[in-house]
Amino acid sequence: MTFVLLKNSNFVKEKISVPKIFCLGSNYLDHIKEMGNKIPTEPVIFMKPSTAIIRNEESILIPDISKEAHHEVELVLLIEKDGKNIKPENSLEYISAIGIGLDITLRDLQKQAKESGKPWVIAKGFDTSAPLSDFISIKKIPDLNNINFVLYVNNEIKQKGNSGDMIFKFPQIISYISNIFTLQKGDIIFTGTPHGVNKINKGDKLKAVLENYIELNVNVN
Ligand code: ZN
Repeated sequence: MTFVLLKNSNFVKEKISVPKIFCLGSNYLDHIKEMGNKIPTEPVIFMKPSTAIIRNEESILIPDISKEAHHEVELVLLIEKDGKNIKPENSLEYISAIGIGLDITLRDLQKQAKESGKPWVIAKGFDTSAPLSDFISIKKIPDLNNINFVLYVNNEIKQKGNSGDMIFKFPQIISYISNIFTLQKGDIIFTGTPHGVNKINKGDKLKAVLENYIELNVNVN
């Protein structure tokens, strides 16, 4: 199944479909510490279905099976063209644009899954778990290793990140994933969250901001 995504910024306007959504866990040291996780030697990869996507001004619906949904604000890459076994030095050719997204996580279910060795797919992939902004061409970003992003919940800053703090940078992420999975045009990669993840509640208003380029506004329903 694919999901139609409007890539819409000052620079690109195109309807594309999203074949796959990849996500990285444990990619910022301060978040690894707050979760009590180990520093990974290879990227930690998981997936969400494309039906998890919601767009600007839409609502996150926390399923009844969870009592604790968390926000995770993340930089999101949009894949430009199909590729397999991509070398890190060629990886930027495969990224068309960057946006900001939320990896909404049912933390209680994820914890139970970790403890019992079960998959995270429900905790990470439920409907509305992937709010996504519009995308801006990476050619408009002066330094991919110095992108600032912020999450406000009810107008209060809750998470602040900089792409320079990622353990695995964009070229390594693209290379690693493409050695295992064929990347397809329209695939999306969530690149991990910095510290400050916290519970969201019904009625909360979330605003994720990628420098002065893009804003994503969603609420919790
Ligand atoms: Zn995440």
